[in-house]
Amino acid sequence: MKYTQFLQDEQATYALAGVVAKLCMQRTVIYLSGDLGAGKTTFSRGFLHGLGFEGIVKSPTYTLVEPYEVAGWRVFHFDLYRLSDPEELEFMGIRDYFEDDCLCLIEWPDKGADLLASADLEISIGFESEGRQINILANNDYGRMIVSKLK
Ligand code: ADP
Ligand code: MG
Repeated sequence: MKYTQFLQDEQATYALAGVVAKLCMQRTVIYLSGDLGAGKTTFSRGFLHGLGFEGIVKSPTYTLVEPYEVAGWRVFHFDLYRLSDPEELEFMGIRDYFEDDCLCLIEWPDKGADLLASADLEISIGFESEGRQINILANNDYGRMIVSKLK
């Protein structure tokens, strides 16, 4: 099941991400794909703020992952763009990031190869005229539950 939407500006991306965040009811893994500047970090900010996080959401470009605690969840925002070798994820203790109380947003998931948990939702954002087009693909029943509520 797939949800496709035109997002005319940053606020639209932000708002949709907040809706997705509020639909998360169990451990959730979200892959975020798209070129530099597509809006992956914007989506992540909207997601965290949708959960009630009020602080600054920094791009984890150099740290690879930024952790948050909000609304009873541990949220991990990854940006794997600068990951030189997927093995680095092993040194980071990657498995600890995919426990029952975790919501994971992963920019550039392709760089993590098969060391990442599989995604419930695969999101891709592309440039479209002045705005963006978002595709949200559900990979399992839980993902389909979320996507069905966006329609
Ligand atoms: P990424 O993490 O994919 O590299 P960012 O979220 O950091 O991208 O940056 C997206 C940039 O594009 C921001 O400067 C934002 O203001 C701009 N922008 C314009 N339109 C949109 C849109 N519809 N959704 C998200 N960002 C948008
Ligand atoms: Mg980014």
